[in-house]
Amino acid sequence: MTPVLEADHLFRFFHAGDDETLALQGVSLALEAGEVVAVTGPSGSGKSTLLACLAGLDEPDGGAVRVDGERISRRPEEERARVRARRIGMLFQQANLVGHLSVADNITIAQKLAGGGENGAAWRAEVLERCGIAGRAHARPSQLSGGELARAGLAVALGNQPKVLLADEPTGELDEATARRVLDLLHAQAAGGAAVLIVTHSPEVAALAHREIRLRDGKVVDA
Ligand code: ADP
Ligand code: MG
Repeated sequence: MTPVLEADHLFRFFHAGDDETLALQGVSLALEAGEVVAVTGPSGSGKSTLLACLAGLDEPDGGAVRVDGERISRRPEEERARVRARRIGMLFQQANLVGHLSVADNITIAQKLAGGGENGAAWRAEVLERCGIAGRAHARPSQLSGGELARAGLAVALGNQPKVLLADEPTGELDEATARRVLDLLHAQAAGGAAVLIVTHSPEVAALAHREIRLRDGKVVDA
């Protein structure tokens, strides 16, 4: 089976004056549809850099990323953005919402960017319901509590019905009940056929994943 998300020997270096940081040093991974994989590792081990390269937000200095069989690395920004809009849902700590638009309109934008729209209204209602934020669909982000914002962010991440979900510390700042709900929703998305990658410091989140990839100094630590 072709993996839904594949990274092949990713390298990423940062330069500042004479200093060179080797943020990623040959990271390879593959996720099948239906998998929930946790990425763990100490601060500075390259987790966020890896996620940015997988999402096509950053370009690796070496190696390749493929999403649903299509290469997203080493392509012009607009082509990366197109692959991302169609196939990837992102749940990052800074909420992924446009501030002056309602939760529902934020989802509509994600759907339009993905080129979808046929069943747009029905799917929008469904994700709002699933994420437990339907009652606040017409609120703007600034009007939401922290827990509501987390669920709204997830609803937007699911707006384009992504094959790949990338989450950076999705439960880090949430109360236990909201964290549980977000995690359940991420697992439900995998059960529905998505590949889900979760960067986390939480041993509980990692234990619930199907497997764990440990990073250290920009490399995958052998199990
Ligand atoms: P983690 O998310 O695991 O804490 P990061 O991927 O954020 O780690 O960072 C990995 C290493 O790369 C760190 O040493 C960090 O300081 C460095 N780094 C990350 N982004 C940049 C950047 N834009 N410029 C310079 N160094 C960076
Ligand atoms: Mg990080």
